[in-house]
Amino acid sequence: MDGGSPRVGDARPVRVIFVGSPGAGKGTQAARLAEFLGVPRISTGDMLREAIARGTPLGKEAEPLMGRGDLVPDDLLIALVRERTAREDCARGFVLDGFPRTVRQAEGLAEMSEGEVSDWTVFSVQVPREELLRRLSGRRWCPRCQATYHVTSDPPKREGICDVDGATLVQREDDREEVVARRLHEYEERTAPLIGYYRELADVVEIDGNRPMEAVFADLKKHVGVAT
Ligand code: AMP
Repeated sequence: MDGGSPRVGDARPVRVIFVGSPGAGKGTQAARLAEFLGVPRISTGDMLREAIARGTPLGKEAEPLMGRGDLVPDDLLIALVRERTAREDCARGFVLDGFPRTVRQAEGLAEMSEGEVSDWTVFSVQVPREELLRRLSGRRWCPRCQATYHVTSDPPKREGICDVDGATLVQREDDREEVVARRLHEYEERTAPLIGYYRELADVVEIDGNRPMEAVFADLKKHVGVAT
């Protein structure tokens, strides 16, 4: 881990939220930031895909919605995150990836979390539509460990094979062109209003996500109060 866990021993738990379109790089950056801070990354997309793979009731309800690019109902997501964030590994905080995605979910999060929303770090990651489409259409995914790659900008060492566990990479169902259009629409309609919602309550940090991964990450680190 680069730089250790800067928040260890800090009295206030760290809460980091990413608001950004599909393809904005939230997943990659949230994973790196969580590792850097020494707290869990909570990806609701990963949790839902796991539920689908396991065939749980949640997975059965989510699968057709996700396959179409629709959002899964707020109540289910709020319950999922409430249960996950109550676990002991979240005592020092967490980095959220893909939640909240609606104002209702944001209200649910505020209710379930102690502390002031004004202390949270909210990143709004912006990437132009052309680039989002390029990223999503070239994204490949490991169904076993959920690692993601890009066919040209972040390819695996062996074409089509996951570096981590050797599984065959696939395109996510919802990265198909017709579904992507729906997901981007859902983002604009239901998730983008969160930026205004959080601006009322906290400092929203605008991040230009249309840059190399390292440059974006360096920016994020500065804003969680740890410049290295
Ligand atoms: P992601 O991996 O974050 O791109 O999420 C993939 C899909 O999972 C989304 O298109 C939604 O269908 C569903 N999903 C993930 N997180 C949420 C959420 N917070 N609220 C509703 N649906 C979600």
